[in-house]
Amino acid sequence: MRLRKRIEIEGVVQGVGFRPFVHQTAQRWGVGGWVLNDSRGVVVEVEGPIECLAGFLWAIRSDIPPLASISRFDLSDLPPTGETTFAIRASQSGQRVQARIAPDTYVCADCRRELFNPADRRFRYPFINCTNCGPRYSIVTAVPYDRPNTTMVDFSMCTACQAEYDDPASRRFHAQPNACPDCGPQVRLLTAGGEPLPTDDPLATSVGLLKQGCILAIKGLGGYHLAVDAENDATVRELRRRKVRDEKPFALMSYDTDAVVTYTRAEPEEIRLLGGFERPIVLLRQKMGSTISAVVAPNNRFFGVMLPYTPVHELLLKDNFLALVMTSGNLSDEPIAFEDAEAIARLKHIADYFLIHNRRIHTRVDDSISRVFHGKAALLRRSRGYVPQTFTLAESGPVVLGVGAELKSTICLTRGDQACVSQHIGDLKNEEVYASFCSTIRHLQQVLDVVPEAVAHDLHPDFQSTRYAQSCVGIPHFPVQHHHAHLASCLAENAETGITIGVILDGLGLGSDGNIWGGEFLLGDLHSFKRLGHLDLVGMPGGDAAVREPRRMAFAYLLATYGDTLPPLPLLSRLSAEEQTAFRQMLSRNLNSPLTSSCGRLFDAVAALVGLRDIVSYEGQAALELEQIAAEGEEGEYPFAVQGEAETFVIDWRPLLQALVDDLLAGVDAARVSARFHNSMAAMIVDGCRRCAEISGVTQVALSGGVFQNALLMETVLPQLRDAGFKVLTHALVPANDGGISLGQAAIARARLSAIHQC
Ligand SMILES: [Zn+2]
Ligand SMILES: [Zn+2]
Ligand SMILES: [Zn+2]
Repeated sequence: MRLRKRIEIEGVVQGVGFRPFVHQTAQRWGVGGWVLNDSRGVVVEVEGPIECLAGFLWAIRSDIPPLASISRFDLSDLPPTGETTFAIRASQSGQRVQARIAPDTYVCADCRRELFNPADRRFRYPFINCTNCGPRYSIVTAVPYDRPNTTMVDFSMCTACQAEYDDPASRRFHAQPNACPDCGPQVRLLTAGGEPLPTDDPLATSVGLLKQGCILAIKGLGGYHLAVDAENDATVRELRRRKVRDEKPFALMSYDTDAVVTYTRAEPEEIRLLGGFERPIVLLRQKMGSTISAVVAPNNRFFGVMLPYTPVHELLLKDNFLALVMTSGNLSDEPIAFEDAEAIARLKHIADYFLIHNRRIHTRVDDSISRVFHGKAALLRRSRGYVPQTFTLAESGPVVLGVGAELKSTICLTRGDQACVSQHIGDLKNEEVYASFCSTIRHLQQVLDVVPEAVAHDLHPDFQSTRYAQSCVGIPHFPVQHHHAHLASCLAENAETGITIGVILDGLGLGSDGNIWGGEFLLGDLHSFKRLGHLDLVGMPGGDAAVREPRRMAFAYLLATYGDTLPPLPLLSRLSAEEQTAFRQMLSRNLNSPLTSSCGRLFDAVAALVGLRDIVSYEGQAALELEQIAAEGEEGEYPFAVQGEAETFVIDWRPLLQALVDDLLAGVDAARVSARFHNSMAAMIVDGCRRCAEISGVTQVALSGGVFQNALLMETVLPQLRDAGFKVLTHALVPANDGGISLGQAAIARARLSAIHQC
């Protein structure tokens, strides 16, 4: 019996080799029909005997190309026409483009084989790619995704490349960045002064320079890296000195996982994440006694490690280095450099040489950073390899723009039931980062082919993102409270909409009452929220200075706990009498000492109290170090008190601090104190959730905010919450930190907009 079916497929199905895959599958199963790209994705009509058709339908759902993903697969019946051959038909044009662009990805196994095969015409060619791998998002200038709309427009294909491009049986059929040594981009080596360095083999020469201890700026996929041999201690120190980066860890890149396990204790799930086509930096526990320089990640138990993701990386690393430091090509706080002239101007005081190429990067994309806890990967920074993958929201709705917060900025645009969160942009206080923020909004609007009907922003009036939103004329503006946005971000990522308890623990965000929040128990959904409980307030002596100096926070908490007679802790001997007097005056007179319920500040204070970190050189450093020193297997915890009326409880940390100080005075070591503190925070979260459930009857909990990037806290609290009967939502593909705020803002704006439309 013959049948004919029509299949409509949506998702990431264009520019990823989907049509040749369908074509090959049809030939394998001996079915007739055709496939074409349309504005929404791919359409297939197929006919044949029922058993062949069944095999074909199974194969095109389960064996899809590595970069493809399917979000909709609709099947309908048609009368058979007797068609027995299968064809790839020309794309339907003239329609609005809805198909999605794939992220930039690694070098696939087939391309890697060719790269190292002396008989292949692309042997050692640093720009080898195919429909299953290579650059995408970073080279796209417009839609639809065709070569003229990428930076590959600068190169015309030679006859051999064009033949592959036109051949449905080729792995390079319609591979837009297709290139070879005869027709494609080339690498060049320059001196720090920008002069060409004569060499027949710039890659081999670069390897030699790295082995000699030189610092190279290397143009990659989404920007420049600074690279040095990670085993060369003197060079790593010199890089740190020139980059003005005192302590923040450098990322490493190794050729394969065999190399990685010689200096880390990577677990199977971490190995899988390292080798995935997204190729994020994965935080891995260091192995003692490795040959990697100790200054790669000072005071840190982890290395951030990635595997090669461009042919240039493969060629530099194979058989040459255990690991290269590959840190983003910028001075601290500046955005990563991605344009050649700009990169040379900015990096010439850091790099000895530049390994550059002539394929333009259209969009700056940093490396993504991921961490595994409880066997589950969670992104700390979402960028290359993940962007512009979208999130499917619970329902369809109007196009809105969420402009995010200020630190770790991202933006979010929605289209239909999809939300697209941009790559990590950075700290908007920096002017160049702000320019990058504006161009990212323009570019994503163009690539998604959308015009926002509303814009959502933070309550904070001084954020650059808020000012940007206020400059958008003719569309409604929705101010969104920071921690409500965190809650909504977690709901949206999990495609949930119901009323949920939001435990939002982070650094700082402006509250609806004008105070700075950050230790919050909220009850809400995408429309609105109530604040059911929070950590008690404390002053931040010196405002922003108290964020940079955990010792100030430690002093403030001590003063609030003990009043005039402070316990004789070592911390106090590290503060001069003048400093102590100044902090006291600021706090008692409320001078430049904004009140906060921040949980991040409490972690900072404890890090200073145990003698770990008085002043930080990067955001989150104190809390990270506190987590890392925690003793394993410790079960003790500190008490806390809860005050307030039935519907708003305030968590008093004074008993906790008293018990912690007693431990310190009794000589309990910092590792144990840290572990007990973490246990106390987990207990505080579970107790807070129980109170919220009693008030509301709600048992679904969302955990969000930067504090939840703490793996120890997560691993402690998750089983306790589940044992207490809560359904727990967490982040995985959206960062728990402010990188996720834009998604939450957009979800809230959509809910409010549709509520207005219904009125
Ligand atoms: Zn490939
Ligand atoms: Zn060619
Ligand atoms: Zn936040």
